[in-house]
Amino acid sequence: MFTITNGIILKGHNLVPTKENIVVDDGKIIEMGKDTLEGKIIDVDGAIVCPSFINGHIHIGDSIIKDEGYGLSLSEMVKPPNGVKHRALADASDDELISAMADSMWDMVNSGTTHFIDYREGGIRGVKLLKKASEGIPIKPIILGRDDSFYGEDPDLRQVRIAIRKLLKVADGIAPSGFGEITDDVAGLIVEECSKQNKISSIHVAESESNQIESIEKFSKSEIEKGVSNNFSQLVHLTNPKNNDLELVSNSSSNVVVCPRANATLNVGVCRLNEMLAMGIKPLLGTDNVMLNSPNMLRELEFTLKLMSVYYKDYLSPLKLLQMATTNIGCHDINNIVQKTPINEGNCAEFVIFKSFSKNPYLNICNRSETKNILYIINKRCIV
Ligand SMILES: [Zn+2]
Repeated sequence: MFTITNGIILKGHNLVPTKENIVVDDGKIIEMGKDTLEGKIIDVDGAIVCPSFINGHIHIGDSIIKDEGYGLSLSEMVKPPNGVKHRALADASDDELISAMADSMWDMVNSGTTHFIDYREGGIRGVKLLKKASEGIPIKPIILGRDDSFYGEDPDLRQVRIAIRKLLKVADGIAPSGFGEITDDVAGLIVEECSKQNKISSIHVAESESNQIESIEKFSKSEIEKGVSNNFSQLVHLTNPKNNDLELVSNSSSNVVVCPRANATLNVGVCRLNEMLAMGIKPLLGTDNVMLNSPNMLRELEFTLKLMSVYYKDYLSPLKLLQMATTNIGCHDINNIVQKTPINEGNCAEFVIFKSFSKNPYLNICNRSETKNILYIINKRCIV
């Protein structure tokens, strides 16, 4: 048991700065209060106590090919089955993949992340490799699998259903790459089987303008319309919305993830964060492919803060931005699986203590903090 004293706590879902002590026992916040003191005392001297980060979208498997293919187009880089990434994954040994994935997980742990939602390639084998790589690392992977039977113009739907069911025995959900690679029937099966088991169905939508144009030409629907009408529980990117796409999303129960650094690396556009927030959409932030970006949420936060300022010639709320990395898991189904809670009495003890530099605690983290400024990471699995 220990008590954190003298911290500025970003409390609850709304990250309200509060001066209280936090008593932690066996991975739980058992008490919060101004005078409460139990067990070992950890005086953090005015530091900021922030919920640990969730990386809402990552492909940790391509940790083996950092920066390879830089300068190529989105589809040349990552489109299955022949993109640079998929050829590299097919050629890699299990040991190489496991060791590269473990390194990336430690990068995440050390920069304050306790949960990440991964798009895992390689079917059941791929899911098992990530589970093996995560053994002994204090982080929670939420693993979304996929299977090669999903692809092609005329897939065997019986096989697809069997593959989904087998995957869901080991994975937290299913994530095909995008609507360009699968038929509507396959999309429907994925959502149906995931929702039966309260698991996550997730898909990339509107990452590039050309994805959107192809979708409209082929189906008379944008990728975002397809994602919403198929009831995917999570939609990733939404970088190039059309017409009333964002309104459709705001009226749906889908969770949204945006990945500004990955979009910039692949020069596919800037996600419309200010519009999303104004419409009540509460996105998560993700670092996307490790081949493109480091999986460090602090770097994503600062980049996003500045990018939106340039793009909109207006300020993005640093509070709302920090919520995108910590407490924005609005979707009930996703929260059930992710199980990440804000800082409140009775919740899991999962928070990061940052050295304080400025009077604005949100900017302190989003604008100034680096990994080296983390004083403690309190994780229900251990103290790092
Ligand atoms: Zn992605």
